[in-house]
Amino acid sequence: MTAEQRSEPTPGPWNVQGAAEFDGEGYGQPDIAPFRIIGNGWVLASVIGDVSDINAEANARLIAAAPETAAQRDRLEVANVELLDALTKAVGLCSYCDGTGKAYTHEDEMAVGCSPGQSEIPCAACEEPRAVLAKHGDQS
Ligand SMILES: [Zn+2]
Repeated sequence: MTAEQRSEPTPGPWNVQGAAEFDGEGYGQPDIAPFRIIGNGWVLASVIGDVSDINAEANARLIAAAPETAAQRDRLEVANVELLDALTKAVGLCSYCDGTGKAYTHEDEMAVGCSPGQSEIPCAACEEPRAVLAKHGDQS
């Protein structure tokens, strides 16, 4: 399937219809599938379960929330990319370490590459943002 052939879900909103609201026409039996998900006038899914099964209704509401959930996911993906870009710029401008992420402390033990009497340590001002970028920065 190519990108051009990819189908799109039925536009929202989707609603839950309980067995009491069924009009008696097909699409499953209320005693077996007491909840339907309706979208754009169509029965999109039937949730199998007992009428007394509170999970069946919760499952139906979760499925019916799919369009809003997908829209929120898309908004969060855009926000995530923007926040990671802003964070990348911010740590590059860190005034404590001049954007290197490295700081130095004077200790008796000398780290490799440091001047005598200094030890290299992570910059306390941007260490945590750098850890977030290392973990999530490649998700754009
Ligand atoms: Zn820094």
